[in-house]
Amino acid sequence: MREFVHSGHLVRTVFGTGTLGRLREEAEALGRTRALILTTPTRTALVEQAREALGALTAGEFTGARMHTPVDVTERALEAVRETGADCLVALGGGSAVGLSKALAVRTGLPQVVVPTTYAGSEATPVLGETRDGVKTTRSAPEIRPRTILYDVSLTLNLPVRTSVTSGVNAMAHAVEALYAPQPDPITDELALRAIRLLASALPRIAADPGDGEARADALEAAWLAGTCLGTVGMGLHHKLCHTLGGSFGLPHADTHTVVLPHAMAYNAPAAEDAMRRIARALSGPGSGPAPDAPTAVYDLITALDGPRSLRDLGMTAEDLPRAVELATATPYPNPRPVTADGIAALLQDAWSGHRPPPGDPLAAQLHTLLGEVTSSFDRAPDPRTRQLLTDLVRHLHGFAADNDLTQAEWNLAIEFLTRTGHLSGPTRQEFILLSDTLGVSSAVDVLTNSRTAEATPSAVLGPFYVEGPPPRAHGDDIAAGLDGAPLYVDVRVTDIEGAPIADAVVDVWQANADGFYDVQLPDQDGPVLRARFHTDADGGLVFWSLVPVPYPIPADGPVGRLLDATARHPFRAPHVHFMIGAPGRKTLITQLFVAGGQYIDDDTVFGVKDALVVDYPEQKGPTPDGRAVDGPWHRLTYTFRLAPGA
Ligand code: NAD
Repeated sequence: MREFVHSGHLVRTVFGTGTLGRLREEAEALGRTRALILTTPTRTALVEQAREALGALTAGEFTGARMHTPVDVTERALEAVRETGADCLVALGGGSAVGLSKALAVRTGLPQVVVPTTYAGSEATPVLGETRDGVKTTRSAPEIRPRTILYDVSLTLNLPVRTSVTSGVNAMAHAVEALYAPQPDPITDELALRAIRLLASALPRIAADPGDGEARADALEAAWLAGTCLGTVGMGLHHKLCHTLGGSFGLPHADTHTVVLPHAMAYNAPAAEDAMRRIARALSGPGSGPAPDAPTAVYDLITALDGPRSLRDLGMTAEDLPRAVELATATPYPNPRPVTADGIAALLQDAWSGHRPPPGDPLAAQLHTLLGEVTSSFDRAPDPRTRQLLTDLVRHLHGFAADNDLTQAEWNLAIEFLTRTGHLSGPTRQEFILLSDTLGVSSAVDVLTNSRTAEATPSAVLGPFYVEGPPPRAHGDDIAAGLDGAPLYVDVRVTDIEGAPIADAVVDVWQANADGFYDVQLPDQDGPVLRARFHTDADGGLVFWSLVPVPYPIPADGPVGRLLDATARHPFRAPHVHFMIGAPGRKTLITQLFVAGGQYIDDDTVFGVKDALVVDYPEQKGPTPDGRAVDGPWHRLTYTFRLAPGA
């Protein structure tokens, strides 16, 4: 049983597009009248927008925010607070603007409304990192946490792709480390996984089209979720390293996160296998085949997005590495895998050179690469639907193989099974249809294809015994042609979904005999029997004679029979009559009418029974409706078929 402690925090969060227009309202809701705008130097246009939104509440602006929150900048900004008489802070921008706002809040107690425009996630944490004389220290306090976060997706549309990628990976790092944090809790876990899923999907879309508002919204939401994780649970090695590299070597914050994350994950992978599996699944999305190896998948994502991959390219020298190792291992902190100087030296060397980290799970990495090769082999398929179906099929097949740790012998057996299924399939015996039926796939496709009009009669599977061009018959004919069995008088109507009769509809009927065999299964049978084609009369009506259907086994002497045996399943179908009904301007209805109370109604071997198709076939005594002479009782089937509009 899991035990956990979760601390929730009351932060008002407004998310949308064009929400900057609500800035004044949000500041006033805090009871404030004089807002000091804080941002980084180049964002004059944004300051103008904020001034406009705040109107008379604008007390002034300070645009000198810098990365890693240098204390001298904070001191200058404090003067601006005093000079303007501000009673609240409005930070606009990335983590640098937010950091300055936090640094002022903790010194003055002023409330903050923050408008984040990157994915750093700082807005959701009570943590402040400050730099003094090249050393970065962090502290945490409730008053550091902003009171209101206002996310305006439209302000992120111009965030350059490179910053979007690095900032997005910064958010991903919060989520990744939350999943192996020492104080896990279910809320944080779910937030983290959702953040990873959103980022893995949004960042490639942003790289392809920076103005894609939906992708921007996904990334910004992920930033909020990931920031919330960062503000809830303690972070490990990755954050410690980035903190050291940023604070002591002046490396750019988000870029450093981007370079280091895959390597920190690879370092921790052996000690956080479950977290890595969940991260891998979130990175690849549901139904996408074998989950990748998480660290290499993150590296590959960054590579595909052309993000930074080496500390050397960020300006770090090889001579800096020993000092970085020393700083990163100076004080102990919680991390799933013990932090050793040798381990960190190797990690930093890899990150400095920009190598792809060694896969934590080589098997997963190999399977994922293989899947990628196969799916990309479909990229040039001219028909997009073919490409989509084959890609998805292969993903599921590879996922099936991986999830079940499939052996060579098992796969050989499957191939042999399918080969025999093919050999048995021909014009009179269709083993593949039986296979599809007994696995319920025929019914699933039938539901998807034919069940979109609720008012129409439900469809049911075609089955393997339909024969094109059944013999034409007249109303009142007996399609059983004198065969043994309980006589059945069939009296049906065909209408549209409003109940208006459909004249001259083509109605094909087929069923098994009293022994449970279709004519095509009987080598000695001379010509078709118990199958016919009718046309409805002017009132949509049709009457004919047949036999009350009985349950019958599907052919069980082939591979499908072996499958049923292997799963202790019976081969029987619930008793039914088949109908295929077509009319111009209507969707062709393929269905079956099942005998209420009949055997196997609840466990039809092809999963074909639907409640609305279970019908009474009541026993009748006395004269028949058309005066036909019948010995003893007979049965009656009365039903109205409703056809959906369509081609
Ligand atoms: P940043 O705030 O420095 O922004 C990077 C650059 O992008 C800046 O030049 C900025 O002006 C520009 N920019 C921001 N938004 C833009 C937009 N929408 N369009 C165009 N340009 C835009 O970088 P960052 O990565 O967001 O933040 C890094 C800082 O945040 C670091 O100091 C880091 O320590 C801190 N941080 C703190 C926490 C925390 O919880 N305390 C968490 C994450 C980051």
